[in-house]
Amino acid sequence: MNTIADNIKRYTNELPSTVKLVAVSKFNPNQAIIEAYNAGQRVFAESRPQEMLSKVQSLPNDIQWHFIGHLQTNKLKMVLPYVSLIHSIDSLKLLNEVNKYAVNHNLKINCLLEMHIAQEESKQGFDKEEILDIMEKTAANPLQGVNICGLMGMASFVDDADQITREFTLLKTFFDNVKEKFISTHPYFTELSMGMSGDYKIAVALGSTMVRIGTSIFGARNYNK
Ligand SMILES: *Cc1c(COP(=O)(O)O)cnc(C)c1O
Repeated sequence: MNTIADNIKRYTNELPSTVKLVAVSKFNPNQAIIEAYNAGQRVFAESRPQEMLSKVQSLPNDIQWHFIGHLQTNKLKMVLPYVSLIHSIDSLKLLNEVNKYAVNHNLKINCLLEMHIAQEESKQGFDKEEILDIMEKTAANPLQGVNICGLMGMASFVDDADQITREFTLLKTFFDNVKEKFISTHPYFTELSMGMSGDYKIAVALGSTMVRIGTSIFGARNYNK
């Protein structure tokens, strides 16, 4: 059986240097994170504010914490002081609240806008028009507390490689268009977070800059704990 350290080394060797490995440690214990950390991994992602906060407080302080879950505006104080990137900005209200908190606390928060690309209704995120609208508004009136650093998207949870390819292609094409159009007002807009355990190979081939890998590093999550 592969250990967590083996898995980190395998991904680190396999991924092109242009693709950042984000180890999704949600629902996994501190010990599992330490094993990955000792194998050289420094970027971890969590999806629940309280869980992220307790890990931040008990694990090495050179870890970069990313947040990938649905973030409620009443939980910002558990996340924003510690987070190096939020992948999951999925409403204008959340973006504005993050900005407000950041300005009040003298922070600059790096954010990705989550785009809805899957067929599944359940997945969160903006559509193209909403993203263009945010880009235009923030070009005219820059947010003082937020850097919009790119886009994140999740493909449908299916085995159909053609469907996943279509969805990631749509995301990548749109990302490139937005990046080109707004390069002068949004210089941080460089990251495309796409790809998880089941579909990262397709995502990397299509131009992802960040993959979010949980299960195939840490094993199946135990949701009962
Ligand atoms: C849980 C999660 C992942 C990791 O998924 P795996 O299939 O375990 O690799 C990636 N991205 C998001 C947004 C997640 O919630």
